Amino acid sequence: MTGTVYLIGAGPGDPKLITVGGAEALARADVVVYDRLAHPRLLDYARHGAERVYVGKQADRHAMRQDDINTLLADRALQGLTVARLKGGDPFVFGRGGEEAEFLRERAVPFVVVPGVTSAIAAPAYAGIPVTHRDLASSFAVITGHERDDARESGTRAPGDAEQRRRWDKIAHAADTLLFLMGVENLDEIVGNLIANGRRADTPVALVRWGTWAGQQETLVGTLGTIVDAVRAAKFAAPAVTIVGDVVSLRERLRWFDNNPLAGKRIVVTRAREQASDFADRLRTLGAEPVEFPLIQIAPPPDDCAALDAALSHLQTYDWACFASAPAVRAALDRLHILGRDARAFGSARIAAVGPATADALHAYGLSADFQPATLTGAALAEELPGDLAGTRILVPRALEGDEALVTTLQARGAVVDAVPAYQTLLDGANAALVRARLAAGTIDAVTFTSSSTVKNFVSALSMDLPLSVAIACIGPSTAQTAAELLARPPDIVAPVHTLDGLLAALTDSFAAQATSALPNPPSQAT
Ligand code: SAH
Repeated sequence: MTGTVYLIGAGPGDPKLITVGGAEALARADVVVYDRLAHPRLLDYARHGAERVYVGKQADRHAMRQDDINTLLADRALQGLTVARLKGGDPFVFGRGGEEAEFLRERAVPFVVVPGVTSAIAAPAYAGIPVTHRDLASSFAVITGHERDDARESGTRAPGDAEQRRRWDKIAHAADTLLFLMGVENLDEIVGNLIANGRRADTPVALVRWGTWAGQQETLVGTLGTIVDAVRAAKFAAPAVTIVGDVVSLRERLRWFDNNPLAGKRIVVTRAREQASDFADRLRTLGAEPVEFPLIQIAPPPDDCAALDAALSHLQTYDWACFASAPAVRAALDRLHILGRDARAFGSARIAAVGPATADALHAYGLSADFQPATLTGAALAEELPGDLAGTRILVPRALEGDEALVTTLQARGAVVDAVPAYQTLLDGANAALVRARLAAGTIDAVTFTSSSTVKNFVSALSMDLPLSVAIACIGPSTAQTAAELLARPPDIVAPVHTLDGLLAALTDSFAAQATSALPNPPSQAT
């Protein structure tokens, strides 16, 4: 049976801007065909075993020719596979989605179109420019900036001069706001034709490149009269949307994405793979580019959970179960499930948790913590646990190299403690070369550490000194101490509140302070 091809709009870049339908179709696919305008994070939606085919696509340098892409889509579907064709922005706004659909129709391959958020509207929006506005623009037009290239590529005749003149007359007055895609290379021609056809030289113009891409979006503002020189001076390159019209002037008041202190900052996130994406997402929302460096991987302990299983088999006999981390919660509860039991196995045992992430992990299994210490350390939990602990039985499922203070403090209070390894963290060196190269090239602004083990693993995976220009940011004092020891200089930032939100706030404050102490940018510079 022939498979279906999903022509999916990936959105303009920000991985949150794919539609629910697009993400679902990706998850169903056997083959994912994607190009450089789709954010790599979107591939996480695909199944583990799905085939991933990169087909490049740049205006003048195709990794795979359009004919070959068409054939690839049809062939895989005719083999009975479900194919996801992920296309930047909306699949039917340029980008040749219509041609792919025609090709499939001719071969009787069924297809589904999943529309997407087009860069024509979203890139201006992320620069604070609405494409319409009650007082300034009641229409917009989306126009290709390189029609001649398109014509050459598809083998049709390029328009002649007279035809060009008529065409530009129409384009110049097509709408109040003009949005050019693929227009950077031909900008002088576009601008010249608009002015020649009656658009005023002082009409505001903006170019937004890599719109909605955290850490990479840049905007250049000028007028029809000045923009060509400004683009040349700033060496502003594709991919960009060019916006022509009075709405551009709204950016000054409506900037919201690229004026955060973290906007444009490139920040290394060093966490266990399972936990990294949450922090990365939050950075992206603030306009920073998270450079994910998953250093540690969470794996079963060396005894293959034998000690954990034994403890879980009589879980109801404990007075307390204490969790100091989210992975400890997940390891214990997942193991309980494997043993054929569920949360009811806790019986009357009460549950204590250190920190909101640990409490959230419990929530995911339908459990609430009976006790959380005010200070977010294992030792504080042991000190603050209410009641007389003499003779009480306490289970502590924890990391193999877990926090000793928690156990010894509980024992000092007279408790009988079963500290069982629930998981271990293993070094995961993937990405080390990439991060090393970016550090050396000076394209990293900060490195974040959320535990002593992330510092240790970072140092052993990277084997290089951190350049002074890279800020070292730590979630709390014990991580900071390890960082000071192993990185040969004290951290620049230590979060006063030892949570991810606390770390985020400390980073924001630090970069905000830097921005106010730095000299203001010259007015023509890209932002
Ligand atoms: N189907 C896409 C457009 C494909 S044509 C869409 O709906 O967005 C490729 C052009 O789209 C690029 O040359 C550039 O002009 C524009 N483009 C795509 N993604 C962009 C982005 N994130 N920022 C700015 N322009 C982008």
